[in-house]
Amino acid sequence: MLNQTGIASLDEIKSCFPKEHLLLKPKAIIECYQEIPCNPCSTSCPHNAIIIGPDINERPTLDLDKCIGCGICVYSCPGLAITLVSIKDDKAEFKIPYEFLPVPKKDEIWNAISRDGAIVSKAKIKSVLSGPKQDKTVLVTVEVDKQYLYDFITIRCPYER
Ligand code: SF4
Ligand code: SF4
Repeated sequence: MLNQTGIASLDEIKSCFPKEHLLLKPKAIIECYQEIPCNPCSTSCPHNAIIIGPDINERPTLDLDKCIGCGICVYSCPGLAITLVSIKDDKAEFKIPYEFLPVPKKDEIWNAISRDGAIVSKAKIKSVLSGPKQDKTVLVTVEVDKQYLYDFITIRCPYER
C-alpha cells in the first residue's frame, strides 16, 4: 500500500510497533519503510539501540532492550520517521518531531492527525522541548486516547483553517 498511495497500511504500521505490553515505558517507533542511504538515527543513539549494519541502505531496526526512550533519535532523523510511544491505561503518549509554526504550548489541546491528514481526535500537549542540539526540530509530547495508537502521527494547530 505504501508503494501505491504513499501511506502505510495498518499492517505496515503495526509491523513497526512492539506488542503493547512492551510499551509501558517509552520506546522508539521507527517508521522507515524504504531502503535509503541514511543513518543519523543509528549514529545519534547514545545506547546503540538502532542498528543499520554495514550497508547504509539497510532499513534500521531497534533493539528494544537497549532503548531508554531518550528521544534523541526522534529529532535526529531528517525524515521525521521516528516517534516515541508509551501506553498508560487508556492513553497513548507520543513524543513527535515538529517543525512548523506556531509551536504548541504545554496544556493546549490540538488536533490529532492521521497519516492521510485527517483529524482523528484531540491531542493534549504535555510538554515541548526545544534545544540547541535539535536544529529547530521541536520535540512535542502529546497524549491521545489509546484507540488511536496506530492512527495518530502528528498534530495540527486547532486555529488553522
Ligand atoms: S529513544 Fe534514545 S535510546 Fe531509544 S533508540 Fe532513540 S536515541 Fe536510542
Ligand atoms: S535517520 Fe530516519 S530516515 Fe534515516 S534511516 Fe534512520 S529512520 Fe530512516
